[in-house]
Order: sequence, then structure tokens, then C-alpha cells
Amino acid sequence: MASELRATTATVDLGAIRHNAEVFRRVVSEDAAVMAVVKANGYGHGAVDCARAALAGGATWLGVATVEEGVELRDAGLTVPILVLGASNQRQTERAAEAHIDVTVTDRTDWEWAAEAGERSGTMARVHLKVDTGMGRLGVRPDAVASEWLPRLTTGRTVWQGLMSHLADSDAPSPERTRGQLSVFLDVIEAIRQAGAALPPMLHLANSAAALRFPGTHFTMVRVGIGLYGGLDVPEAAALRPAMMVESAVTLVKRVPSGSLIGYGGTFEAPRECTIATVPMGYADGYRRALSNRAEVLIRGHRCPVVGRVSMDQITVMVPDELVVQIGDPVVLLGSSGSEQVTVHELASWADTISYEILTGISARVPRRLIPAQLP
Ligand SMILES: *Cc1c(COP(=O)(O)O)cnc(C)c1O
Repeated sequence: MASELRATTATVDLGAIRHNAEVFRRVVSEDAAVMAVVKANGYGHGAVDCARAALAGGATWLGVATVEEGVELRDAGLTVPILVLGASNQRQTERAAEAHIDVTVTDRTDWEWAAEAGERSGTMARVHLKVDTGMGRLGVRPDAVASEWLPRLTTGRTVWQGLMSHLADSDAPSPERTRGQLSVFLDVIEAIRQAGAALPPMLHLANSAAALRFPGTHFTMVRVGIGLYGGLDVPEAAALRPAMMVESAVTLVKRVPSGSLIGYGGTFEAPRECTIATVPMGYADGYRRALSNRAEVLIRGHRCPVVGRVSMDQITVMVPDELVVQIGDPVVLLGSSGSEQVTVHELASWADTISYEILTGISARVPRRLIPAQLP
């Protein structure tokens, strides 16, 4: 493949994905399932390969954001339960029913679509009712579950597979908001019991941070995304391993005189005569422009500051005087070199964002190199 000619690559360690799934499998009680969330192309790591690695590590469900993402997994031959976590439109809901993919329901309209799609495809649609316990995004009002939703969900027009909600603050130092959401979720479960109805088999609330920090949120399934990829920034995540490394190679090295302006807008002025190296990674590859004059890369175990603006296709870095650098020398943009390491958390903090955005932002132009979970 022509893309393999490029020096800029993202290496995905499927062994780390599998290991991280095993960590969650151990943390969660045996009666609870682990859903591997592989939306957005497995947070940029490759959905199908990460799904397989996570299943090998003990996950038994897959979560996606869109029906199309679910169909990609089905087309790859994956037969485990798949849930679309986001809202689906009518056409997507029909496709989900055909592909035996569960959908999240948050309104009367999308429940009708699911019922009709199931009837048309000859298999009853499996739905998970999402309750808004405090996230303020998707979800029905907690007090509407027993009064409005039980009659609908027990008509037999759909299979009531799950009751779910989503946490807004589970990685925050203060547990208050998570405790509040948990308490609302428990109240909804109690109201269903009071009404004499049976609970659906899958009750799920926890994301990665909650799975590690709040055992009371596990219920019958946890939904693990960022933790699977080793990008979770809480102390409880110490056993998780980062799965992605981004590398490139120097394309040019040159000495520039003191006072030289580097890059678009001349935002960096060389304070003295110094060595500048160019690296073929830019914002079109997902190396965000906000990293301009802030990030560092590793060349042969040395930290080199990114100087000047990040362009679409390349960056300029200042090489320390004690380091001899040549065209073709490896450059680590994310990952380790020698005893130094650039973590996804560092990149996120330099760019004023979160690890999720850095990882999902590594664009399709960067070829992925896979390290298999288990060598044959
Ligand atoms: C993305 C997503 C998750 C996974 O969250 P992480 O913080 O990445 O573990 C869980 N649940 C829902 C509904 C999501 O959309």
C-alpha cells in the first residue's frame, strides 16, 4: 500500500487493548458484563481490531455511536450484542433492526421507529431506554419511566433489553454529582419494581472512570471506552496501558541565524543561532494547531520543543545543541523514546483539550500499524 511509504504512523498495540479489557473484567463482578465502546473507529485505534482484542480480554458487548459503526462490526463477522449509544434516525433504526443491532431510545418517536422497523424486518427490535439522570443530554425524564414508558415497553412490540443512563462527571475529583445521578437511577429502578414490572436484563450506567472508581454504578454492565485505550486520567487507572504511539521521521535539519522567524505568522523568533528540524505531521494528521509553540516531541530520547505554528502537514522543532540530528531520524510525537515519554495527557493539556479528542483526532491520513494481541 502506498500509505505505508509514509514515515508518519500510529502504532496500535492490541495487546494493550486486550490487557486493559482484562483489567476491567477483573474489577467488575462476574455477573456484570463489560461493553467495549469502539465508537469513532475505536477512539482512533481501529474499531474492528480493537473490538476483537477487547472481546479476547473478556468484553462481551460492543458499543458504537452510530448504526453505521455497528454495521461495520457486523460486516467484519462480529456476532456479539452491539448497542448504538447515540440517537438514531428512522433509516438508521431500520438498518439496525436488519443487522440485529440494539438501539437507544429516548423519545416516543424513536421507540415507534424501532417497533415498526422490528415488525418490518420480522425480528423484534431490542431497545435500551435511556434516562437523563443529570447529564442533561439524551434521555427521558426519570419520573416518566414508570408512568409513560412501562406501558409502551411492555406492549410486546419491542424487546425491552436495557435501562441506561450516562454519567457527566465520573472522572472529577468530587464524587457528588456521580452520587446524585446514581441515586436518581436507583429511584427509577425502584419505581419500576413498585409498578410490578420486570426489569430489563441490562442495567447500565458506568463509563470507564465510574467502572474503576464507583463499584455501586456497575449494575449488570459497564461501558468502557477511554480506559480500553489507556487514555483515562484518574489515579485508579494506573494499571491501564496506553495503546497508541505516534511516530514520524525528520525531513530536514538546518542551522538558522539568531532572529530567524519560523513558520506561518512568524510566531517564533530564534533567540540565537540554533538547529531547526522539520517533521511531516500537521493538523491535517490530527496534530492540533493549538500545540504550536507549546508541545514537545522526542528525538533519540531528548525533548525538543515545537517552535512556530503547526501547519497542515508539518511542524518545526528546535533541536538541542548537544544533539546531532539527521534526515530520517525517528521522532516520537506520542509515546516513549529512551527514558522520556510524551503522554496523551500531556498532549491534551498543551492543546487545552482532553485525551479523547487527541486520540480520536489522529486522522485517517496517518497509517495505522497494528501489533497483534497475541503473536502466533
Ligand atoms: C462514549 C460513551 C461511553 C464510554 O465513555 P468513556 O468515558 O470513554 O469510558 C459510555 N457510555 C456512553 C453512552 C457513551 O456515549
